[in-house]
Amino acid sequence: MNAASQPLTATMPLDVRGRPLRDLRLSVIEACNFRCPYCMPADRVPDDYGFDSTSRLSFDEIETLVRGFAQLGVNKLRLTGGEPLLRKNLPSLIQRLSRIPGVDDIALTTNGSLLAAQARALREAGLGRITVSLDAMDPARFRDMTGGRGELADVLAGLETARAAGFESIKINCVVERGINDDQVLPLVSHFRGTGHVVRFIEFMDVGTCNDWSRDRVVPSAELRDRIAARWPLRALEANYRGEVASRYAFEDGQGEVGFVSSVSAPFCGDCHRARVSADGRLYTCLFAGDGHDLRPALSQGVDALRERVSTIWTRRGDRYSETRGGVGASRKHIEMFLIGG
Ligand code: SAM
Ligand code: SF4
Ligand code: SF4
Repeated sequence: MNAASQPLTATMPLDVRGRPLRDLRLSVIEACNFRCPYCMPADRVPDDYGFDSTSRLSFDEIETLVRGFAQLGVNKLRLTGGEPLLRKNLPSLIQRLSRIPGVDDIALTTNGSLLAAQARALREAGLGRITVSLDAMDPARFRDMTGGRGELADVLAGLETARAAGFESIKINCVVERGINDDQVLPLVSHFRGTGHVVRFIEFMDVGTCNDWSRDRVVPSAELRDRIAARWPLRALEANYRGEVASRYAFEDGQGEVGFVSSVSAPFCGDCHRARVSADGRLYTCLFAGDGHDLRPALSQGVDALRERVSTIWTRRGDRYSETRGGVGASRKHIEMFLIGG
């Protein structure tokens, strides 16, 4: 059977824990214009870090890859990086991907610094949703949180332009580190309450190899939730869908909602339906994987070969790192977050 006639339900693989493949996070670029210390610290990652451009998948390759994943059951696609808005002509890629049968949700995770210039074109190309990472409301602190490279005003301008372009409810992701930016939590909530945007606080994770993670710098979501609720009473909400990573709370006064992603204090591996592909075409079945699977040889043979290869890898998948944190003596060799995009 050729790819075009492949029924969308025919070959959906389950991993060894019975989890289907639903969600693809695709990095379109490994480079970034920020150096957030929890991800890509400036003293560890050189200014000119990046693959040579021939190592990145081309738009043709990305389109074939996404077609293959869609035939295996992926219906949600998130484009990420590095900083995805640094990839040239991203809107034209989005336009191509939005026509792929089975892909009914295309989202983008960005640091927002280049959003003002691109929001309209992204919307017109078919982008459905945007998540903007924002770790502080104080301009000086914001600059520190980006390794001295970002301006808060640019991100806020990006959010405004995106709203005007039709992105009405944007998720604002904030990674919280104790003693570094946990004093920014209430200012962030205060700023975005009532705007339609949803702030989500992410526990600082032990991803990659260079952020000097330690458990005492993680602020558990329960602590943040109590802090916020003491100022603005909250009520727990149902998940929007099975496998949603954030737990959601509504403000009792009707001013919207806030979310928490508790990968350290309350792992959610049992419902993890996500695959990640780096900009050079390697498949990672877990955020904490040490090694990826090179998809390029299969990709060069077309969509059927790609689909077979991914299916084989997925059926062998048993990852559940966050539930064990690797266990005693586990390897600390993890793929870098900026290569697979969170
Ligand atoms: N550059 C884009 C951005 O920052 O939104 C996309 C790529 S970035 C790697 C994706 C997400 O990973 C961001 O929301 C970022 O905050 C999150 N992230 C990076 N390192 C993290 C860490 N150590 N713990 C938790 N989240 C992290
Ligand atoms: Fe760049 Fe995003 Fe990593 Fe910050 S979190 S360094 S913006 S890739
Ligand atoms: Fe999924 Fe791995 Fe995160 Fe568990 S640790 S939720 S398997 S990415």
